[in-house]
Amino acid sequence: MSAFVERRPIPFPAPTEIPGPRARALVERDSRVFAPCAGRVYPFVIERGEGCYVWDVDGNRYLDMNAGIAVVAAGHSHPRIVRAIQEQAARFIHMAGTDFYNEPMIRLGEKLVALMPDTAPAGAASGQGWQVFLCNSGTEAVEASIKLARYVTGRQGIIAFFGAFHGRSYGALSLTASKPVQRRGYYPLVPGTFHAFFANPYRRPFDVEPDRVTQACLEYIEQTLFHTIAPPRDVAAIIVEPIQGEGGYVVPTPGFLRGLRAICDQYDILLILDEVQSGVGRTGKMWAFEHEGIVPDIVASAKGLGGGLPIGAMIARKELTANWEHGSHGNTFGGNALACVAACEVLALVEEELAANAARVGAYLQAGLEELQARYEPIGDVRGRGLMIGVDFVKDRRTREPARALAHTVMEQAFRRGLLLLTCGASTVRFCPPLVLNEAQVDEGLALFEAALQASL
Ligand code: PLP
Repeated sequence: MSAFVERRPIPFPAPTEIPGPRARALVERDSRVFAPCAGRVYPFVIERGEGCYVWDVDGNRYLDMNAGIAVVAAGHSHPRIVRAIQEQAARFIHMAGTDFYNEPMIRLGEKLVALMPDTAPAGAASGQGWQVFLCNSGTEAVEASIKLARYVTGRQGIIAFFGAFHGRSYGALSLTASKPVQRRGYYPLVPGTFHAFFANPYRRPFDVEPDRVTQACLEYIEQTLFHTIAPPRDVAAIIVEPIQGEGGYVVPTPGFLRGLRAICDQYDILLILDEVQSGVGRTGKMWAFEHEGIVPDIVASAKGLGGGLPIGAMIARKELTANWEHGSHGNTFGGNALACVAACEVLALVEEELAANAARVGAYLQAGLEELQARYEPIGDVRGRGLMIGVDFVKDRRTREPARALAHTVMEQAFRRGLLLLTCGASTVRFCPPLVLNEAQVDEGLALFEAALQASL
């Protein structure tokens, strides 16, 4: 474990005014020039960050359980990432990776394929069965995945899931089914996209016993979708998040992902795993699909991959990419040298220590949250893997009716106390901190979270 992960806990200073005068002035300036579509959640204005802590422009310090929405996997301004970016910036910054070549991009590509399960013949170099396409965001990685799937199968249909979030461009948005506001005003979306039910164990999509949820969700695809609007010979791919992110940090029922893999195998459909939020060590393994023992055909990655720099990657089986003609997809910034050196450092750190740290500290955080659940009635569910944990607030534990307003109030009260959190799904507060989080910081976070919860009730 590096000294960086084991940084001593710093006593928490009482926050001064939040938001303070500098933050208020900047929020006011911001609102004059930026379109309001993004919808900020609370007025946190960052000045600097280090590890799991961030400071606002008025000098208040916060424990960051957001990590820039699951992005700064190695913590804020990790010294190894900073050094890699600085050294690369002094050499060159950009040289259009889809038109020319550069070593950092090649190094990252080699690393990404080496991280994939072996599909090559025994004795071949690891990762030989995969190829990579680089882009700048999760949306673009999803977009590349579905374009490739349609291109190589010659089929148009894509099946996604209710509750899914895959991004905001037209292709990705057509698969997103998380909140009405994300789609409202943008119709018609891309034809040939369908939605099935995600095997949510807490809010079951079908009125069946808990141990029947997996089967009921798989049967809906095979017996309803395939027999009505999406015949399998027209379906190019099924796309799924191994753990739904924006949809509420929902870990599907056991066997659901394996069942999807089996359906795809049976009907020659490609399985795309959207690991944009769950990948790169967040769940305690490099990829969340490793928990399920399945091998996808295409993986979309972004967020944590760049450690804070914008990058996305689509990693696909080589037999698929082999038929993707020259010029049929591309972009300007994919393979940007700064993003690639940062990603190489992130992946090295995740392999060396951060995935294991996420597993260990994540279990500790989850146990602490479960202990709060035992004492606070409105916490209906605590779920997740590694450092991807959701706390679901309910009006009534029996009906499991979402307590939306309470989740928002807890998030706001946490902010006022120096703890950064975000909501997701109907009524979930998510914890997706930097993967360098340690147990002492979990203790601080739990104390602040409980204080925020008490103030909200
Ligand atoms: N896929 C998943 C699972 C995500 O969580 C997100 C973003 O939250 C995206 C795709 C879109 O990524 P981006 O915002 O980088 O375009």
